[in-house]
Amino acid sequence: MKCPFCGSLNNKVLDSRVSREGSAVRRRRLCPACNNRFTTYEKVEEQTPILIKRDGRREIYNRDKLKRGIMMATQKRPVAIATIDTFIEETERRLQDSNYKEVSTSELGERVMDFLKNTDLVAYIRFASVYKNFNLVDDFEREAREAKEESHGSGKARSK
Ligand SMILES: [Zn+2]
Repeated sequence: MKCPFCGSLNNKVLDSRVSREGSAVRRRRLCPACNNRFTTYEKVEEQTPILIKRDGRREIYNRDKLKRGIMMATQKRPVAIATIDTFIEETERRLQDSNYKEVSTSELGERVMDFLKNTDLVAYIRFASVYKNFNLVDDFEREAREAKEESHGSGKARSK
């Protein structure tokens, strides 16, 4: 790590600290050549998945967009934001772990549907009806039919 003051490549790490989320390491360094201190951050390189739409167009995965969609579906429903965040983090971790560079939007949609199906049936149906607009009519109809059959009886979301 090059000293920003004198450009020397030799420096001493005085202190290392892992950030609160554990995704970065902060290091205080001392340059013995000029005696200045500076801080560096090390982060794991994150791979941002590329989403492939049904029509073949590509789009960069956007966490806010995914969250917005789920928030809209769960509006006024008893679903905690923490639950949604956990689901999103889990999804992202899986995408990273499996080294997915490209993920189809339908695959991501399926994950959200599974999550909502097991969390809140109303939110699930709402999401499914928006999802339909992404040219997934067949899937939606099948899902809606299944959801209707499942909700028939107990009237509650199925829990796994
Ligand atoms: Zn220096």
